[in-house]
Amino acid sequence: MTAVSNSYPTEALRAADAAHHIHPFSDTKSLNEEGSRIITRADGVWLTDSDGNRILDGMAGLWCVQVGHGRQAIADAVHAQMSELSYYNTFFKTTHPPAVALAERLAKLAPPHLNRVFFCSSGSEANDTVFRMVRHYWDQMGKPDKKVIISRWNGYHGSTLAGTSLGGMKAMHTQGDLPVPGVHHINQPYWFGEGYEMSPEEFGVMAARDLERAIDEIGEDKVAAFIAEPIQGAGGVIIPPETYWPEVKRILDERDILFVADEVICGFGRLGEWFGSQYYGLEPDLMAIAKGLTSGYLPMGGVLVSDKVSVGLIDKGGDFNHGYTYSGHPACAAAALANLDIIENEHLVERVKNDIGPYLQERWIGLGDHPLVGQARMKGLMGALEIVPDKKNPHKPFKDVGVPGLLCRDVSFEHGMVMRAVRDSMIISPPLVLSHEEADHLVATARKTLDDTHQILKRNGFL
Ligand code: PMP
Repeated sequence: MTAVSNSYPTEALRAADAAHHIHPFSDTKSLNEEGSRIITRADGVWLTDSDGNRILDGMAGLWCVQVGHGRQAIADAVHAQMSELSYYNTFFKTTHPPAVALAERLAKLAPPHLNRVFFCSSGSEANDTVFRMVRHYWDQMGKPDKKVIISRWNGYHGSTLAGTSLGGMKAMHTQGDLPVPGVHHINQPYWFGEGYEMSPEEFGVMAARDLERAIDEIGEDKVAAFIAEPIQGAGGVIIPPETYWPEVKRILDERDILFVADEVICGFGRLGEWFGSQYYGLEPDLMAIAKGLTSGYLPMGGVLVSDKVSVGLIDKGGDFNHGYTYSGHPACAAAALANLDIIENEHLVERVKNDIGPYLQERWIGLGDHPLVGQARMKGLMGALEIVPDKKNPHKPFKDVGVPGLLCRDVSFEHGMVMRAVRDSMIISPPLVLSHEEADHLVATARKTLDDTHQILKRNGFL
């Protein structure tokens, strides 16, 4: 048995890709002119491209490959499950062992008040489920006017209609005339970019109180829920000031609205706890999960449901008219179970908290001394470097926002490492199995990348 052919010549693959394949979040016209990079293999934290180059995967795929690439145990578990029962649905009074085992396992792993899960195939589908679930919950509780969902500008909750609407990415809203009605966006806790005239502590409280203002303006009787990522990932690893979440918690405790934690990135050990909510001491009523649930080996997501929400959703009876063909897919559930075994057996969550997390954080934050870096920040294994034109005046952005970031991303690739650019922030989120030696390599490559980017920006008049 072989994988899809690696024997195609690179140029033929590139040409076929350009002719037939539309890539996500891409300018397909210019991508086709340039040609895609072709990744053919991956092992641990290393990718291999079609020219045989080895590339350090500083983004764990797309924030998801917690256990590293190429784990035979997951492949074997999926193979065994597919040989036994490759697919069956979970509609119509039917279930199957992998879905049951995974649901039970997640209830054990999650904070004690979250005991049920609704399965789907992605983070976007999880948040679409959230959207419908919170409205249905309030209908069931006899409060049908509670419909508005509050979320944050520059949050990311997926690419489906509900995901895009809940997310606060304006560039996404303009395509498709979104958000849908009933979503209200508040400010994000982005101190470096938006709050630097105050102390981080003051700004954190102010950003949190935006939630209070919004609930009071809209009316608590009309607000269904607040959704947020514990740390915004795709928005640029926005780590809120330490005062932010305690103040949000105070506001939520005083008001009768649901809190939804989007744990699609922060879940499954990324912050050194099983879930980002635990890192910040939050008690969500619902949690959206995906990515690290299977380490990306197969697509799967879900919504973890609290006992409180179960009262409206389940105990009151009646159908929840929502579901996906692949809800609880047996092969995906088997991949998730094998992945969770690895995370547990190799103590990866504790490793992020006590070992590789602090080790990489110290070195990554050390990059803050580079002349191009305005701020280096990191929690768990999620980090960002703000690259800026004038270190003495670090909050002033480049004139062509985003261009230096993309350049830096390309330089990083040439040096054999994946970093992502969000505006002019360079982002990393490596697999949780990253070794100390690989962490050293990551930081050394980032420094080399910054040096070269600095030179190119100077040459091209950006500095
Ligand atoms: N929520 C968050 C916080 C995410 O980061 C993402 C994806 N990056 C999603 C939702 C959407 O997940 P998916 O791409 O699996 O639909």
